[in-house]
Amino acid sequence: MPTLCQTMSAKLIEGIPLAAQFRADIALEVQALNAQGKRVRLACIQVGEKPESLLYVRNQKKLCAELGIEFEVEMLPDEISQNALIQKIHELNQTPEVTGIILELPLPARINTFMCQRAISPQKDAEGVHPVNLGLLVYGVAHHAPCTAMAAYQLIKSTGVELRGKEVTVVGHSQIVGKPISLMLLHDFCTVTTCHIATKDLAAHTRNADVLVVAVGKPGLIKAHMVKPGAMIIDVGVNRIPLKDKDGNPVLTEKGKQKYATVGDVDFENVKEIAGWITPVPGGVGPVTVTMLLRNVTEAAKHDHGPNL
Ligand code: NAP
Repeated sequence: MPTLCQTMSAKLIEGIPLAAQFRADIALEVQALNAQGKRVRLACIQVGEKPESLLYVRNQKKLCAELGIEFEVEMLPDEISQNALIQKIHELNQTPEVTGIILELPLPARINTFMCQRAISPQKDAEGVHPVNLGLLVYGVAHHAPCTAMAAYQLIKSTGVELRGKEVTVVGHSQIVGKPISLMLLHDFCTVTTCHIATKDLAAHTRNADVLVVAVGKPGLIKAHMVKPGAMIIDVGVNRIPLKDKDGNPVLTEKGKQKYATVGDVDFENVKEIAGWITPVPGGVGPVTVTMLLRNVTEAAKHDHGPNL
C-alpha cells in the first residue's frame, strides 16, 4: 500500500484519468439499466440566459450524450416567481423517467436558493445538496453525496494511501465541500480539523496535516511553509486571475482583452516541492466533480422509489 511520500517533488493526483475510469463504469451501468427498461435522465433547470451557465449546460449535455444519459433543459424566464420555480421542480419530481435534477446557480437574487434546492426530491438530487442527503452523511448513508466533496474524496482514495489514523485538515466549511468532506474522512477514522475564517492560526493546522483539503476560493492562500513535507494536498479552489507578464503588465488577447488563468487556492509551483501528492488546477477536482453528478443520476435509476422519501 502506498504511503505518504517523503520526496521533494509531489506526485500529481490527476482528475482526468480518474474521471475517465468512472465515466467508463457509468456508461456500462447506463447500458445495463436501459437493457432492463430503466431510463437514466438528467433534467437541468436554468433560470434566465447567462452565458457562463449556458456553457456549463452545453458541457453537461455533451457528457450525458457520451455516457448514454438522456438530458433535458428546462429553460425558465428570468422573471419567474419562486413559487412557479418550485412548482416546476415538483413536476420533475413526479416525472418517473427523470432520475436526476440539477438547478443551475446562481438564481436571481429575489429567489431563495436554499428553498428551491430543498424542493428537489432527495432521490433525484443530482448534486447531493438536499438537507436530507447532507444529514444522512452524518450516518454515512446518503443517497447522493455532494459532488465536489465526493470528487475530493475519490481523488484521495485513488492514491491508495491508508487513511486510518491520519491527521486531516480541511480549510473551508461550506455545506457543499468543507463540511461534507470532513465527515467523509471522519468515517475513515481520520482525525479531522476543519478550519474557517475565524481559525486563529491557520498555518499551525495546515502544517500538522498528513492530508490537506483546501476549499476556499482564495488564490495563493496555502503557501509552501504551511505544508508538512510529504503531505497530500487536495486543492478544490477554482479562481480566475488576470495574467501578467514578468514585468507585471497585463497579458492581452489578440482582441486586446485581458487574459485570465485558472488557479486553485494552493501556491502550486512552490507547494509541489514540499508535498508528497498534489492535485493540479485545472485538471484535478473539477473533472471528477461533474462525473460524480452523473454517477448520482445513474445510481438513482437503479432504485425504484416514489417521488418523495
Ligand atoms: P464558499 O461557500 O465560499 O466557502 C468558502 C469557505 O472558505 C467558507 O467556509 C469560508 O469561511 C472559508 N474561508 C474563507 N476565507 C478563509 C480563510 N482565509 N481561511 C480559512 N477559511 C476561509 O465556497 P465553496 O462553494 O465551498 O467553494 C470553495 C472553492 O471551491 C471555490 O474556489 C469554488 O470555486 C471551488 N469549487 C470547485 C469545484 C470543482 O469542481 N472544482 C466545485 C465547487 C466549488 P466563512 O464561511 O466562515 O467565511
